[in-house]
Amino acid sequence: TVCEAEMPVPKAPVHIDTTKASIARVYDAFLNGKDNYEIDREVFRRVKSVAPEAALLAVDNRNFLIRATRFIASQTNITQYLDCGSGLPTAENTHQVAQRLNPDSKVVYVDNDPVVIAHGRALLEENDQTHFSAADIFEPETLLQDEVVRKHIDFNEPLALFHMGTLHHYDGQRPPQDIMKTYIDALPSGSYVGVSHFYDPQTEEYSELARRMEDMFVHSPMGSGVFRTRTEIEGLFPGLEMIEPGVVECARWWPDGPQIKPMDPVQYCIVGGIGRKP
Ligand code: SAM
Repeated sequence: TVCEAEMPVPKAPVHIDTTKASIARVYDAFLNGKDNYEIDREVFRRVKSVAPEAALLAVDNRNFLIRATRFIASQTNITQYLDCGSGLPTAENTHQVAQRLNPDSKVVYVDNDPVVIAHGRALLEENDQTHFSAADIFEPETLLQDEVVRKHIDFNEPLALFHMGTLHHYDGQRPPQDIMKTYIDALPSGSYVGVSHFYDPQTEEYSELARRMEDMFVHSPMGSGVFRTRTEIEGLFPGLEMIEPGVVECARWWPDGPQIKPMDPVQYCIVGGIGRKP
């Protein structure tokens, strides 16, 4: 018999407000998932009204996360991952990619979305090397002391810290560069940091598109999504040595094969990079 004390107990009451769009569910809608409501699909439609191929923002971002994980699992000795803003479970999650290449890999996911907490947590915590914490990823001081994080991640050993597709949704007062610096200061030397972010290329060709998508996101029922500049995004990796090719369009960061199809304009508006702490 299973002792009741060992049963997983949801930490937060499940309250899902279906009149408000949520970042995790909107992202799921962009990825053609099933865990979203009409209000989330409304955000997707609004962004598509200015950028018909807007789904590529999410697809390219997710594929970058998968390739970044694969790179770290196969090219470094890292076996621990702190994945901030895990999102809803989808086809290939960080722990599946990392554990396939290195079965010793441990992953701690962090997300505060009620739907992710309610059922995503159960799906993501697939084995005893994969854990979940319902904490705020924009409060690094608190997250770094989080019980689940401290229990499963050894900060004396290098780790991979991911902030993929998260910081463009942060609308607090603190500079996002400062949030990342706090995380990076806590990492041991040899750690890797992966970030992806909506991007304003500041070119005549694509800046207008970035501004229009931002306008749609920010004034939608989701209410967030800022397209930052190269200088702002490079500032999210303070003190790190960038792995080549540095901060580039997600689609161009070590793609799986040759790009023979012309990139869609939206693909120039999402970038990512991996840095290593010296
Ligand atoms: N990292 C995944 C990826 O790149 O595929 C998911 C990205 S999704 C766009 C952003 C995630 O961050 C959502 O699941 C959302 O719930 C989560 N998130 C946003 N703000 C958060 C916060 N303050 N604390 C914890 N999670 C947050």
